Amino acid sequence: ATPTSVMVGTGRAASLGVLFKSGAALEALHRAPVIALDKTGTLTLGRPELTDLILTGPHAGPDDRTAALTLIAAAERGSEHPVAQAIVTAARAGGLTLPDAQEFRALPGEGIDATVNGQRVQVGSDRLMTRLGLNVAPLTAQTDALADLGRTPLYAAVDGRVIAALAVADPIKPGSLDAVQAMQASGRRVVMITGDHARTAQAVARQLGITDVRAEVHPAQKSAAVKELQAAGQRVVFVGDGINDAPALAQADVGVAIGTGTDVAAETADVILMSGDLRGVPNAVALSRATLNNIR
Ligand code: ADP
Ligand code: MG
Repeated sequence: ATPTSVMVGTGRAASLGVLFKSGAALEALHRAPVIALDKTGTLTLGRPELTDLILTGPHAGPDDRTAALTLIAAAERGSEHPVAQAIVTAARAGGLTLPDAQEFRALPGEGIDATVNGQRVQVGSDRLMTRLGLNVAPLTAQTDALADLGRTPLYAAVDGRVIAALAVADPIKPGSLDAVQAMQASGRRVVMITGDHARTAQAVARQLGITDVRAEVHPAQKSAAVKELQAAGQRVVFVGDGINDAPALAQADVGVAIGTGTDVAAETADVILMSGDLRGVPNAVALSRATLNNIR
């Protein structure tokens, strides 16, 4: 590749909102047959909203709803996770005053563990509840139905008893379906990698025409998931936005960060999509290819 053609290519990409950090990235992008994408914040908006709160047990009246949401939101206040923000926002929108938590611990990829008004509050995935030895079976008929709609199911336990199921919905970004279809039309294998619940991930993937889904992948395991895809001897592009995604972006042959995501992701990536629109990915692949063809 001549320096001039690479310069022209990176310049043209920049005018389309795609920032190649190096000529090598421009040359490498079109050579990868596999494109793996993070779900939350990459394929979806990454701004979930609380859609469901289902109380269980003897206390399930309207006052109990307010009390439950107050406790859960107060416990979640210390978390930066989008799921936590959805819960806190819903509580505030309902006019609830949230007490301070006495203790707070984030459980990456699982949920949170906090003490509020002397009560132990644990909120998170079914896997967290199972690890804590708590039974969510009485709620799974309802939560499975919510997950099949693409919503993320969560559970809340107070002092070691499950009191509620919750669900948050994170809409698919405009442009994601077109982007996935364009990637597939150019012969790429498209894979979704997410920490989210398997049923939720499958439902979102179905809406996008993605059949290859790696779900319930712990944050520390995302780069291993990329490595596994590379083990077949194929180059892999990984597209992500979060702090969690940095190791996977580094492991991939080409890391693509969503410019609207975290700084850590942008710093680690080889390519930055200035807008959150995923159509930038197939556009960048096409540009990478065109540039290299011009060179030869
Ligand atoms: P992702 O951002 O890809 O969905 P994470 O690994 O950050 O994945 O989280 C995986 C799952 O852990 C979430 O879908 C949710 O069920 C649970 N979780 C993580 N953080 C929280 C939190 N603060 N409150 C409740 N659940 C959480
Ligand atoms: Mg994400």
